[in-house]
Amino acid sequence: MFSSSKTCNCCGHKLKSMPLQIRTWECPNCGKLHDREEICLLGLCFSWLLVILCWFDVLVVL
Ligand SMILES: [Zn+2]
Repeated sequence: MFSSSKTCNCCGHKLKSMPLQIRTWECPNCGKLHDREEICLLGLCFSWLLVILCWFDVLVVL
């Protein structure tokens, strides 16, 4: 498992930089096409969790 979205899980090639708005990228080393969608979804779930936790905090305070 590779934790970084900038690392090719096919050959292990690492990208130096990648704009956040890019969802798919092609590995310059092996040519494999990567989809960042699932990583973005994970981030989205995490941010929603934080929002829900904030809501609970507000409810507790009220
Ligand atoms: Zn690769």
